Amino acid sequence: MAATNRTVVSAAQALDEPCLLCTSVTATTVPDCLVEIVKAAQAGVDIVELRLDYLSAKDVVNVPQLVQACAENKVLCIATYRPKWEGGRYEGDEEFRLEMLLKAAQAGASYIDLEYKLGPQAIQEFKSKCSESQIIVSDHDYDKTPPTSELEALAESMKEYGADVVKIATTATCIKDAFRMLQLARDKSSTGQRTIALAMGEEGLPSRLLAPKYGAFLTFGALAAGSESAPGQPSLADMTQVYRLKAQKEDTRVYGVIGDPIKHSMSPVIHNAAFQELGVDAVYLPFKVTDIDDFMQTFVEYRLSGCSITIPHKEQVARFCGVVDEVAGKIGAINTIVSSGTDKGDDEGVLQASNTDWVAAIAAIENKLGGEGSLSGKQVCILGSGGTARALAFGAIERGAKVTLANRTLSKAETLATELGCVAKSLGDLESDKGLTGSVLINTTSVGMSPNIDAAPVSEDVVSRFSLVFDAIYNPLKTKLLQMAEKNDKMIVSGVEMFIGQAAEQFHQFTGLQPPVELMRQKVMERL
Ligand code: NAP
Repeated sequence: MAATNRTVVSAAQALDEPCLLCTSVTATTVPDCLVEIVKAAQAGVDIVELRLDYLSAKDVVNVPQLVQACAENKVLCIATYRPKWEGGRYEGDEEFRLEMLLKAAQAGASYIDLEYKLGPQAIQEFKSKCSESQIIVSDHDYDKTPPTSELEALAESMKEYGADVVKIATTATCIKDAFRMLQLARDKSSTGQRTIALAMGEEGLPSRLLAPKYGAFLTFGALAAGSESAPGQPSLADMTQVYRLKAQKEDTRVYGVIGDPIKHSMSPVIHNAAFQELGVDAVYLPFKVTDIDDFMQTFVEYRLSGCSITIPHKEQVARFCGVVDEVAGKIGAINTIVSSGTDKGDDEGVLQASNTDWVAAIAAIENKLGGEGSLSGKQVCILGSGGTARALAFGAIERGAKVTLANRTLSKAETLATELGCVAKSLGDLESDKGLTGSVLINTTSVGMSPNIDAAPVSEDVVSRFSLVFDAIYNPLKTKLLQMAEKNDKMIVSGVEMFIGQAAEQFHQFTGLQPPVELMRQKVMERL
């Protein structure tokens, strides 16, 4: 991949202030706001944003009480009275709005948020009346993330308007948008300008979760899932417990999983717990990626250390990698990338690609069957001919097994079997061909996956002809197919072993350390 011209601002140049953890209080009554302030303090936030536009005009006059509650709970506060014209809820006149903000300042609010669109005169006039508070000048783009040159000009202009803190919130349409915002935060804070630079939306998540690494002034989290004040906000619990924002430093290495959809991936929970357990200074994020070119360019430009790859990108990433593991190359699917580069300097490093799916599945089967090498010479029947079947068939052949592929659509099995030099059958053939027996039956179809837990891809008669049954599905843990096998006294291996195994091997590749497999298993089981 071509080298980039981006200037990497060193950590030492950034402001020597920890990034504050903030949550927005969006209750619609004063008593409920007071409850939320207490909850926010208990959740470990440093600063609370009082969203006065969620209150009625009758309630908002009590803003001094809310400011005081923040002080009593030892959290800083921002008073924000967001008008409808800037994406907020307030629809009244400007005079009352600014009067309430002044009231908040006089009550001791640490920061007052004023919209950039108010213009320099109104902002400076307000500032001259309130020496008690610092001014955050903010701007929101609910459609896009403008070009970096425009964002830089906007930040400069905000400063000229009198901003003590610059806040720019945009909308990310790709992962690069999130990293451009992080870079803006780093560049501005390196000049002494406190900066909040956030990209809203799921693609923007890195801008929230990596804010400490990039020297941002603060980052927002939601008090609870469902109480987000902007799209894409993670929960405070995840920010502190899963992503450990308070422990993040400029050198913290960044890993992640790319896919679409990615929201429900268990990988961040597993890998972050493993990093924490072994004291590895690294964080692992979910990246919602639709455009693989954009992501891979971002990966290199922003010196990410490695990533896991899931649907639909496994077949697309090899072309970006300098070294592709031989079996992964033959399979044509990659689920792991590790960069040999570091977070600093001009060396972008070499991207090394591999596939830990097959390694994990084959290891789980061989462990049960009698140890490493036990698949050699064995008859293996694989149900399905999709991506997982392809990886496992290559893996089994690599270990010396004799493979038969059986698929609902015979032509797909035939195409794959021709490539691999093995036998193809239809699922129907399998039912009628009583002579087809073997050691291992592997299911890679989605039949039996939750919610269709009463379905199985083949009959109990077929199951009874094998010694060991492996199901790639891990939800439910014990599929109908595995239940049938158990009933017939066959050995069984759940897909969860493959899932844990592929993550463990990835962790090893990421860190060079022995993975804490039992902890990783525990984290998966908690989520299933
Ligand atoms: P894929 O490429 O879409 O392949 C799906 C396969 O299932 C195809 O062979 C398809 O047959 C077959 N199939 C689908 N519906 C069927 C039905 N009603 N009856 C019979 N066959 C049917 O999917 P994949 O990526 O290989 O994933 C397959 C399974 O593996 C999923 O359940 C996934 O959760 C699991 N998996 C588990 C792990 C793990 O870590 N444990 C990792 C990856 C995948 P046709 O060709 O006839 O359409």
